[in-house]
Amino acid sequence: MVYDIVIIGGGPAGLTAGIYVKRAMLNAVLLEKMGIGGQIIVTDKVENFPGFLEISGADLAAKFEEQARKFGLEMKGMAEVDSIEDKGNIKIIKTTEGDIETKSVIIASGTTPKRLGAKGEVELTGRGVSYCATCDGFL
Ligand SMILES: Cc1cc2nc3c(=O)[nH]c(=O)nc-3n(C[C@H](O)[C@H](O)[C@H](O)COP(=O)(O)OP(=O)(O)OC[C@H]3O[C@@H](n4cnc5c(N)ncnc54)[C@H](O)[C@@H]3O)c2cc1C
Repeated sequence: MVYDIVIIGGGPAGLTAGIYVKRAMLNAVLLEKMGIGGQIIVTDKVENFPGFLEISGADLAAKFEEQARKFGLEMKGMAEVDSIEDKGNIKIIKTTEGDIETKSVIIASGTTPKRLGAKGEVELTGRGVSYCATCDGFL
């Protein structure tokens, strides 16, 4: 089977792409190496997303996932992409769960914050320790 689109990354960007792709009635699968939701899952409180005065990152991620599932997006969790082999019209996505063939790829693999290694940094992430100036700079 050859997909129209493979989306790499199950964070807000990948799930948003998935909603649009399924509304366009394309045959797609989203691949995520960990849990669906991305970095927003570890956010205690989100206050800058229109429509919600305040929502936990985990709840917001669950809503993104629910919306993508409503449109029938296929998702594979725990599927890490190792490489992409470009064979022209067909791309072969090499994953820990096997090879997947697709006509096109959306890469929404996000970033990983660089940790300082300070005491309490991990425990307090999302509760005072922040890696996002635009979201939490005012704190
Ligand atoms: C502590 C914290 C607090 C934050 N607070 C806010 C806030 O209040 N408001 C706000 O707007 N933003 C906030 N952000 C920022 C927000 O979480 C990010 O902007 C957003 O998650 C980026 O979405 P993304 O989909 O681009 O990437 P990510 O969320 O990083 O998602 C990328 C996904 O791709 C997956 N992935 C990566 N490589 C591979 C691979 N090879 N194979 C398969 N999967 C792969 C990752 O596991 C990840 O799930 C916060 C971030 C952090 C860390």
